[in-house]
Amino acid sequence: MSDPSATPRILTASPDAVAEAGRLLRAGKLVALPTETVYGLAGDATDERAVAAIFAAKGRPQFNPLIVHYADAAEARHDAVFNETADALARRFWPGPLTLVLPRAPNCRISLLASAGLDTVAVRVPAHDVARAVIEAAGHPLAAPSANLSGAVSPTSAPHVAESLGNKVSLILDGGPCRVGVESTVVGLSGKTPAILRPGGLAREEIETAIGPVIEDDGSEDAPRSPGRLVRHYATRLPLRLGAVEPRREEALLAFGPSVPSGARDMLNLSAAGDVVEAAANLFAMLRVLDRPGECAGIAVMTVPEQGLGRAINDRLRRAAERG
Ligand code: AMP
Ligand code: MG
Repeated sequence: MSDPSATPRILTASPDAVAEAGRLLRAGKLVALPTETVYGLAGDATDERAVAAIFAAKGRPQFNPLIVHYADAAEARHDAVFNETADALARRFWPGPLTLVLPRAPNCRISLLASAGLDTVAVRVPAHDVARAVIEAAGHPLAAPSANLSGAVSPTSAPHVAESLGNKVSLILDGGPCRVGVESTVVGLSGKTPAILRPGGLAREEIETAIGPVIEDDGSEDAPRSPGRLVRHYATRLPLRLGAVEPRREEALLAFGPSVPSGARDMLNLSAAGDVVEAAANLFAMLRVLDRPGECAGIAVMTVPEQGLGRAINDRLRRAAERG
């Protein structure tokens, strides 16, 4: 909930303010910044806690994957695997309102939570001097969804951000109104056919002049089913048993909170302190560690409270537990 008594800190995007934003981001804080599309709620994309804090600030009931912003294409190549099509699009349209969803590189530095546990990462180089200067000052790529509460319209000016998220960010950098004003076009390139996963600031026709036909695939029920469908949910190989009180024999335990039953073959605690933001930061990495079919028969998961990020954690756990 926003606190009307808290005055949001808005600074004109001077070099000093950009340096201050870089310091805050290096310390794991969140900063709202202008891009050419909309204002972004930015955090260090390599820091699971900072990414969890983004979801908490937006009040998103689900962990959707976030777009990771880079100062230049060369940096993005550390974290994502570019094929020829991706190269062609990056050369032609970056910096600009185009996001590419690509396989995570073997040494990908990006938080698993920013990828919502998937094997892909969404990358973009924004065409905005302030955004790129802040990324450079932070020294890390930045995860930055639109700087508004979940369900509200995307902000295209600093006062919009202050209205929606004012007391939830350490700093709002004011770079004036956004030139494009709608989100980036998201193109999925990890399947066989390039697919538009979200229409946005770069027209489909423009994309097609560079790489030929693309399919439209927003992940909705009536969208064409294709190998290019990318908005999948992370699924474990081992069955998950939710709401577990004690592990059964042969089960690994994903615990939550200070009192942990003994007897599990393998145990990790999402948050011994019972903190849902810490639990969100650990969720996907811990699931991956415990998900070893050779060693256990299943994963028992203790109850996570349906509060704050607990809702998004439980949503993901339920989806991962549904077996097709
Ligand atoms: P936002 O960060 O709020 O601007 O939204 C990010 C958009 O990119 C959403 O539509 C996501 O579904 C999409 N997206 C980001 N990463 C991925 C990914 N790894 N796979 C599929 N879609 C993605
Ligand atoms: Mg948004």
